[in-house]
Amino acid sequence: MRPTWAEVRLDCIADNYHKIKQFVGDKIEVMAVIKANGYGHGAKAIANYLEKHLPALDWFGVALAEEGILLRQAGVNTPILCLGGFWQEDQASECIKYNLIPTIYRFDMLTSLAKAARANSCQAKFHLKIDSGMGRLGILPSELNLFLNTLKNYPELILDGAMTHLASADEQDKNTFTENQIATFQNCLAEIKASGFNPKYQHISNSAGTCSWPQAYGNLVRAGGLLYGLTDTLGSNVPITVTPALSLHTRIILLKKVPAGASLGYGNSFFTKRESLIATLPIGYDDGLMRAYSNKGQVLVRGQFAPIVGRVSMDLTLIDVTDIDQATLGDKVTIIGKSENNAISAEQMAAVMGTISYELTCGLSARVPRIYLSSPSE
Ligand SMILES: *Cc1c(COP(=O)(O)O)cnc(C)c1O
Repeated sequence: MRPTWAEVRLDCIADNYHKIKQFVGDKIEVMAVIKANGYGHGAKAIANYLEKHLPALDWFGVALAEEGILLRQAGVNTPILCLGGFWQEDQASECIKYNLIPTIYRFDMLTSLAKAARANSCQAKFHLKIDSGMGRLGILPSELNLFLNTLKNYPELILDGAMTHLASADEQDKNTFTENQIATFQNCLAEIKASGFNPKYQHISNSAGTCSWPQAYGNLVRAGGLLYGLTDTLGSNVPITVTPALSLHTRIILLKKVPAGASLGYGNSFFTKRESLIATLPIGYDDGLMRAYSNKGQVLVRGQFAPIVGRVSMDLTLIDVTDIDQATLGDKVTIIGKSENNAISAEQMAAVMGTISYELTCGLSARVPRIYLSSPSE
């Protein structure tokens, strides 16, 4: 096997879930959001581990019905909300078959879900998504009255939840916008109740909302970033200490002494200024080590920082190890994570490239094996 791998500490994810749960208190349920293969960490492994180790696990959240189906096929029994709803009628049927609860944000989805419920001789639960200002999924508050009246025609449907999504819960200078979103949602909830519906769940908060807007919780929070220990989407208010679960490693597969003035990599973007010891790493942008890291990023070798030199290419990346004491063929190289007394976080790496940690962990490709651990590796 090529020596490039990601380590995922499942015990850290379980511990982070537990901390979120303690923070929000026992009246509020916590959804572990594991869409996009658990933000690249591995949804199946996480779901199986959390079910086994957390007696008080409430919900999983995925984006697509297909993601939910994979979890059910892996034996996952916890309630699953499909945050992205479903596309057409055949998928509505799959949701029922696999006991996945979809969000609904178009009128025609009511018809599809009701039809699928009738065909399966059952009732179907769903969560209604309201667009309170994100401008993405959700019906507009102005459509709510018509939506509720339409819903009354479908006795096979159960309005199990009402939800919305905050756009800028992490940005204090946009507090007025967030307060307006919360007020809009509260008004919608009042309208829902006045129409005779009583959804069991009301929810609004992602990780940033969980940290900064406790007055808006409803009775369920949806945590992604916090679960993985990623905190760069939370703004400055991080009242919960979470632990990053993922680290990324490779090894030196070639060491080469080159003279001053040598060109390294595609496009001659780097020339050595001195005689240098250059190491080749078997990782590139196909693995999710983004090309934007070229000539900017650093990695850790023997606990010391070494710069990326030249362009990151598809399968290979070069680093300068001239200043590393005793760099050796086969040395472990840490791209994200700790090495002796130093560390590089996904957040720091993302900041170098002007993005967020989620994009990095989601971008780790299937070519990178995930090694699942339930305790520290060293
Ligand atoms: C992805 C997602 C979340 C989780 O967001 P984090 O910032 O990772 O906590 C919550 N709610 C919805 C609707 C989402 O799509």
